Amino acid sequence: MKMKRTHNANELEKQIGKEVVLNGWVHDVRVLGGINFLLLRDRTGKVQVTAIKKDVSKEILKIYEKLRQEDVIAVKGKVVKSKVAKIGIEVVPSEIEIINKSETPLPLDPRNVTPANLDTQLNWRFMFFRTDEARAVFKIQSQLVNSFRSFCLENGYIEMQAPAIISSASEGGAELFEFPYFDKKAYLAQSPQLYKQMGAISFEKVFMVMPIFRAEKFDQPTHLNEIRQMDIEQGFSDDNDAIAVLEKAFIYMLESVKKNCKDELGLLKRDLKIPKTPLKRMTYTHIIELLQKAGEKIKWGEDFTKTQEKMLPKLVGDDAFFIKDWPTEIKAFYSMPYEDNPKICKAYDLVYNGLEISSGTQRIHIPELLIKQLKSKGLNPENFKFYIDAFRYGACPHAGWSIGLERLTMTVLGKTNIREVTMFPRDRNRITP
Ligand code: ATP
Ligand code: MG
Repeated sequence: MKMKRTHNANELEKQIGKEVVLNGWVHDVRVLGGINFLLLRDRTGKVQVTAIKKDVSKEILKIYEKLRQEDVIAVKGKVVKSKVAKIGIEVVPSEIEIINKSETPLPLDPRNVTPANLDTQLNWRFMFFRTDEARAVFKIQSQLVNSFRSFCLENGYIEMQAPAIISSASEGGAELFEFPYFDKKAYLAQSPQLYKQMGAISFEKVFMVMPIFRAEKFDQPTHLNEIRQMDIEQGFSDDNDAIAVLEKAFIYMLESVKKNCKDELGLLKRDLKIPKTPLKRMTYTHIIELLQKAGEKIKWGEDFTKTQEKMLPKLVGDDAFFIKDWPTEIKAFYSMPYEDNPKICKAYDLVYNGLEISSGTQRIHIPELLIKQLKSKGLNPENFKFYIDAFRYGACPHAGWSIGLERLTMTVLGKTNIREVTMFPRDRNRITP
């Protein structure tokens, strides 16, 4: 590579009349004889490089003949005002270097002239990343995860690193990926649950962003086998305290996207509305009644299907709301039951645009109660000894929650398949690329 970039595509406005070097890809090329165009793309945008036969060298004209979409190039040239180019500026080339040729035909057209189907987008992920759409989706996802971090850091939480290799099921479910670990068996974490609790009873306020793994044979556009969770756990807090923080964090993240990703939202034609706070706090029992009234066959004590979840915004009358006070039986063993009615527990979900995006609970911090709940779920307290024992030495009451990053991205962008907003989705049928 002989010519190193002096400017990005979006930095040319102040360079009119000057010479610059651009590095990027051939987004498009048109050789018309008298006038030749190439559209150079870099991470900041696209700029037209125009060669009029009478103004440029024969060398340059020859190179235009050779150029193909997605070739990696360097262009030296003068920045001039343009009446035809979209951004009002173009570059007249004095030298073009082909740094690396692309093969043809392309498996996917980054110009999106003929949009690729989802399977092709997933098979050729890096190629799809070159489209304007992918750049917008993943810029917004990056904004979401980073605004979550900012929210936590601004509010005094410490970032925790929980292990992904664990020795026993954190949720107690059987749906874990098991693998040999030297002379033992180990599992991939289905949540950082036990670890973040140990963090909260010592550091008080912790958060984390980490991949988690679920070994269920999902068959839905809302479920993957590997996802990213954004978690908070905090001491001296009950369910209502944690709900209040979840509401704040959720709105903070949406506002941050709305403010910092205007172009991306525009490109995706997404009018992101910020839900009005306070969000409604519905009880599980109330939601069951609403569904039954709407003709759904669901009994108290059952979890909602994804189809029922989709009906909820209309029934509740809001895009975002909490569902709290769940049946203890269908929530994880560590959920704190109400003292006066242990059939229900201090658990809550956040539903946004008809999909659960977050779940949380006030946790049990009393070892005897934890043992009782484990047994009632058919789990062996022996397997959770290190965890239970952690609550024997001054464990404060604590609560927390987890937001699925992909679910949040999906609902923010109104996408119907979680794979569209996952860089490298892992499902039953896909472990490459
Ligand atoms: P669901 O009921 O929607 O299957 P869950 O209740 O099993 O989800 P939790 O254990 O509550 O999930 O996990 C916390 C959050 O992580 C969920 O609210 C969701 O945003 C996300 N999440 C969990 N499992 C998946 C999955 N298989 N695919 C995508 N996101 C998931
Ligand atoms: Mg849940």
